[in-house]
Order: sequence, then structure tokens, then C-alpha cells
Amino acid sequence: MTAMVKAEGVHKSFGQVEVLKGIDLEVATGEVFCLIGPSGSGKSTFLRCINHLEKINAGRLYVDGDLVGYRQKGDKLYELKDAEVALKRRDIGMVFQRFNLFPHKTALENVMEAPVQVRGVSKAAARERAGQLLERVGLSDKAGNYPSQLSGGQQQRVAIARALAMDPKLMLFDEPTSALDPELVGEVLDVMRQLAEEGMTMIVVTHEMGFAREVGDSLVFMDGGVVVEAGDPREVLTSPRHERTQSFLSKVL
Ligand code: ADP
Ligand code: MG
Repeated sequence: MTAMVKAEGVHKSFGQVEVLKGIDLEVATGEVFCLIGPSGSGKSTFLRCINHLEKINAGRLYVDGDLVGYRQKGDKLYELKDAEVALKRRDIGMVFQRFNLFPHKTALENVMEAPVQVRGVSKAAARERAGQLLERVGLSDKAGNYPSQLSGGQQQRVAIARALAMDPKLMLFDEPTSALDPELVGEVLDVMRQLAEEGMTMIVVTHEMGFAREVGDSLVFMDGGVVVEAGDPREVLTSPRHERTQSFLSKVL
């Protein structure tokens, strides 16, 4: 099976500060890959590198077999042009802690936006598909609501539907439930769980250890820009081998 994401010695610095210090990992197609670690350990930066929002300084990063940011010809590498990067990014859905919906558009219009603007899909077709996606995230009855008329959990489910509208082959979730009131976390995790069951490849940065344990196929604990420990979520969470993992888990579990 091909890896959906493969990182080999990935380094990323901001000025003098080295944030990713050689990340090696592999995300198999169809798997739910959970990424945990303390604040500042480089989790968001790593997701942003996968999604072409940051350029790595050293190492290799592949998405679906293609080198991120470069085209390979023989043994030469050519930097991708902006238009080429934009094409690659279409295949990757991203969901943030803050939902980032367009405030002046309804739930339905938010979901329709990218297919119409980026893909050139007809409005009628995009509207129909958006309706189906809102149904999938349990929000058929909220299609006409503006973000301000939706709860945080509902907004996040619209954000997931919006990402799915581009038919991504990979979904990145960056602490999707961290900004939610506790009673709204479950409805978002349920949608993610359903997506996992449908076979979506997902990288999920989360503090929801229950989700990682029940839904995750792999779990990586990052600290200080390195992968400290990786393995089956149930094993890592129940019997972490490294002191740093133990210490982190004792604070969050
Ligand atoms: P995490 O998501 O694990 O909390 P981040 O990837 O957001 O960690 O951040 C890792 C480190 O990189 C932090 O120290 C942060 O301040 C720094 N950092 C992230 N983005 C930038 C940036 N654009 N410029 C400078 N420093 C950054
Ligand atoms: Mg982060």
C-alpha cells in the first residue's frame, strides 16, 4: 500500500528557531493518524508543511507519492509555481480550531463556495452537492443559517462539509474541537468518526485521547519538534515507553 503522507527528516525553522528537527513518519492511505503533543511542539507547523502553507528547510515530504513543493525531473528538483501549488492544495482538506467560515454566507453557500469558485462547478450542481454534504454532517435543517446563527459545533460541522466539497484525498484536522464548549465536542467527533469509517485518510491533531484511542489507527507523540513515540494508540496511551510521553499523558488524561 502506498503512503498518503511520508516525511523523511523534515526540518523547518523560522529564522533562528528550529521548530521541526527531523520528522520521520508515514501515514498510510485510509488511516486515521493522530498527532498529540504539548503546545509549541510543532504540530500545526507540520500540518501546514503538508498543506503547502510552509516550506520545509531540509528533508523530504511526500503527499500521495508526490514531493511537496517540488517537481522532480531526473535527479533535479524544480520548485512548483503558485498555480501548481494551488492545484495540489485542492486535494487536501483542512479544518482548523477556529472554523473560519465566511460570515456573510449561509451554511449552504459556505459549502458551495470552493467548488464554484475554484473548480468551476455550476451553481446548481454545487448547491445539490452542498445539500448532501450538510445532510451528511447532520445539518440539513441549517442550510440557510449564517455562521452567527449556528453553535460552535454546528459551525465546525459546516467547516468539515466545506472541506469535503472539494473531494479531498487527505483531511487535516488541527485541534478541531479545542475551541468548543465541552457539550459540543461530541457532535464534531461523531462526524469525524463517520468520515473515518468511510475510509478517509485523516491526520488529526487533538487532545481528545478517547477519540485517538477509539478511532485512531496510529498515534504519534511529538515534543520539541521531534517524534518521541509512535505506535498503536491503545498501546501508546496505555503504556507509554518514554518519560516525556508519560509526563504529557499524565497531564491530559
Ligand atoms: P503546536 O501546534 O504544536 O502548538 P506550532 O507548530 O504552532 O506548535 O508552533 C511551534 C513553534 O513554532 C512555536 O514556538 C511557535 O511560536 C513557532 N512558530 C510557528 N509559526 C511561526 C511563524 N510563522 N513564525 C515564527 N515562529 C513560528
Ligand atoms: Mg497548534
